[in-house]
Amino acid sequence: MPLPIVAIIGRPNVGKSTIVNRLCDVQDAIVHDEPGVTRDRTYRPAFWNDREFVVVDTGGLVFNDDTEFLPQIREQAKLALSEASAAIFVVDGQTGPNASDEAIAEWLRQQTVPVLVGVNKCESPEQGLAQAAQFWELGLGEPFPISGIHGNGTGELLDELVTFLPPAGEIDEIDEIKIAIVGRPNVGKSSLLNAFVGNNRAIVSPISGTTRDAIDTVIERDGKTYRLIDTAGIRKKKNVDYGPEFFGINRAFKAIRRANVVLLVLDALDGVTEQDQKLAGRIEEEGRACVIVVNKWDAVEKDSYTIYDHEKLVKDRMHFVDWAETIFVSAMTGQRVEKILELVNTAAEQHKRRVTTSVINEVIEEAVAWRSPPATRQGRQGKIYYGTQVSSQPPAIALFVNEPKRFNDNYRRYIERQFRQQLGFSGTPVRLLWRGKKVREVEGGTRNRATRVK
Ligand code: GDP
Ligand code: GDP
Repeated sequence: MPLPIVAIIGRPNVGKSTIVNRLCDVQDAIVHDEPGVTRDRTYRPAFWNDREFVVVDTGGLVFNDDTEFLPQIREQAKLALSEASAAIFVVDGQTGPNASDEAIAEWLRQQTVPVLVGVNKCESPEQGLAQAAQFWELGLGEPFPISGIHGNGTGELLDELVTFLPPAGEIDEIDEIKIAIVGRPNVGKSSLLNAFVGNNRAIVSPISGTTRDAIDTVIERDGKTYRLIDTAGIRKKKNVDYGPEFFGINRAFKAIRRANVVLLVLDALDGVTEQDQKLAGRIEEEGRACVIVVNKWDAVEKDSYTIYDHEKLVKDRMHFVDWAETIFVSAMTGQRVEKILELVNTAAEQHKRRVTTSVINEVIEEAVAWRSPPATRQGRQGKIYYGTQVSSQPPAIALFVNEPKRFNDNYRRYIERQFRQQLGFSGTPVRLLWRGKKVREVEGGTRNRATRVK
């Protein structure tokens, strides 16, 4: 499993090498003050508390004059960022923000990687905070005063940094989509499996070392690979007499955990039962993408309203996964079975989607403009400073606010609805993480800048 990567970005001479040396605890690296020299990217292992990661130094984003951020340099920075879980944008607190910083910041706001602003050379106890506060205007959230040479502030920066790294053991690359087919007994799971496999030569692959006797079936469509998880569990009941009430729910839970997308199969003749809801709850809890498959649609007597009535019933009763698409199929006749995979593709894409910080902050600004956050009786208002996507699968967006407890459930649901309305995320759960953020007191009236969203 690869370690998460942290990219260090910034113009030359702000102190990137000095900071990398401190983070990586290696004293022998080269400090160069030669603008214009583009070095190769270097990778160095680092850790903070119990988190290990790799630091990649982009070698200094060099400009031909002080303002133009050249395409080839963008390209280089983009490469470094494309593999990073988070970035530290290093700026110089003693010179203050300049046009190059602004150009880089503008570009960083378009990227999907969370960025922390490390304001270097802030070792002065008198001026450090004010020097850092000048960088609020970059629109990348709270600037951290640090000193690469003296070490001040780096602990706070790293504390924040590790919250943006994916949890250890959860860095998962998708080259195939893993699908779990779950549902109550007799809804038609094995019929559906047969319909998928049917005209397609499927590869059955036992998985060693994970769930004992779990067997996956791999199918291909249009050059895409789908791994149907634990199909042994789906077929098993055929051979073993479990009795009609046996649900095999633990096996279903395990399959959900391994999946990217869960097909939650319902029986059109039964409506939505409590057991269906229990499975839906688990899918949401585990943060998996989901498609609701209403099977046996051939057996339903229909008029032109039936499908809408049914859709409404499913949406109402499946509130845990009300973000999931619903499709009406017949495993028996094959009607719309192949369409399920189209919905799976969309759900899987949305599940691993990343949205740029500037788009997230546009949604927040818009949402807050329509409806202000709640205030206490004393008139103290909730404030959202900014948001950024911190992970995917499922998408998680951290919202940095003055006091999380001022944001009641009602308002939180409103914000989540806004994200869905503006950004879609069809088929995947979305996590909003409400994080309290102490705004550091700084002298001289710069403090109110902290209240801006952008
Ligand atoms: P890079 O080009 O961004 O990698 O910057 P370097 O790490 O080579 O540092 C550039 C210059 O800034 C060097 O002269 C460093 O000694 C100086 N410098 C780096 N960190 C600090 C710091 O925390 N405080 C002060 N005052 N100077 C620093
Ligand atoms: P499982 O227990 O979820 O794997 O369900 P099965 O695939 O074994 O199906 C249970 C019963 O429902 C069987 O008698 C199937 O023939 C029937 N069945 C499955 N799919 C359909 C369908 O699309 N339409 C109809 N009418 N019956 C179906």
